[in-house]
Amino acid sequence: MNLAVSEITQKFNASLTFKIFSICFASTHIPLLALITYLVTGFRSEAIPVLGTVLGATLIGTAFCLASVWMLIKPLHEIAKTVETYRANGAVKPVRSKRTDEVGVVTNGISVLIVELDATLSQLRRQATTDVLTGLGNRRWLKDIGSMEIARAARESTAISVVVFDLDHFKSINDEFGHDVGDQVLMAAGATIQHNLRPYDIAARIGGEEFCLVLPRTGTTAAIAIADRLRKELAAKAIGPLPAGRVTASFGVYRGDPKSESLKVMLTAADRKLYSAKNNGRNAVHWAAARSVSGESVAS
Ligand code: GH3
Ligand code: MG
Ligand code: MG
Repeated sequence: MNLAVSEITQKFNASLTFKIFSICFASTHIPLLALITYLVTGFRSEAIPVLGTVLGATLIGTAFCLASVWMLIKPLHEIAKTVETYRANGAVKPVRSKRTDEVGVVTNGISVLIVELDATLSQLRRQATTDVLTGLGNRRWLKDIGSMEIARAARESTAISVVVFDLDHFKSINDEFGHDVGDQVLMAAGATIQHNLRPYDIAARIGGEEFCLVLPRTGTTAAIAIADRLRKELAAKAIGPLPAGRVTASFGVYRGDPKSESLKVMLTAADRKLYSAKNNGRNAVHWAAARSVSGESVAS
């Protein structure tokens, strides 16, 4: 008997149809129940008190119906707000309903889907902007973030420099030691770069063995110092079977003018210096500065 009751309760809890039916049934029958109660308890059967009783009971039935329907659909209001907020500004505000009926299932389901969607999108965004091998940003990311930094430097009238560098004779490392050792070298280069960056610096792998740094608030002298520190650290590293001194890189540094030059212009200028470093024996830092900012004295 108890089992049957709990089974019915469970079915009632899980069924929206049952609940709507019960609300409609109860609210439409409240006036009738009130009338019967009024009559059988011996009250007078004149029109005015009867009408008053029926009217009062109808109002109570209507209020009961509205309140019950409101309670029934309340989780849907909350999940609708969550969906709107997520679409408007990407904020995830999960909703949890204890109900087991269709409203509860839909509410919890959508809430979980939004959380999962957001996690998947974040992961995809990260994958689309990160170089898997080194953990640095990729070329696309550099283009977006680097351009933003240049715009900020122009707004705030601060210095900005870019560094482009390329590992020397990397093909011969691959040829002699295999692609896996080549990959190991790239990972070590990525780690060295990350280890040397300030929190606001931007680093990306922009080609096979080519890297780029965008250094906000950095003039020529500081940019050259950062590049030279990286150059020395790389050259001092023994990586796998490669002795210290085997992995070197050539650097091109360019202090740009953020008010008149784009990232592309700065990268081309830094690239020119990189090739000059390559053509002059490699494992070196060559630099230049935009004409409008080249008054800065450089210590080396
Ligand atoms: P240079 O000093 O003039 O820069 O000579 P280099 O040998 O470094 O330059 P080159 O452009 O001739 O060769 C680059 C090599 O980098 C060729 C390519 O196979 C290798 N490479 C590109 N991407 C990867 C990668 O992800 N992993 C490995 N192991 N090698 C890569
Ligand atoms: Mg190279
Ligand atoms: Mg190259």
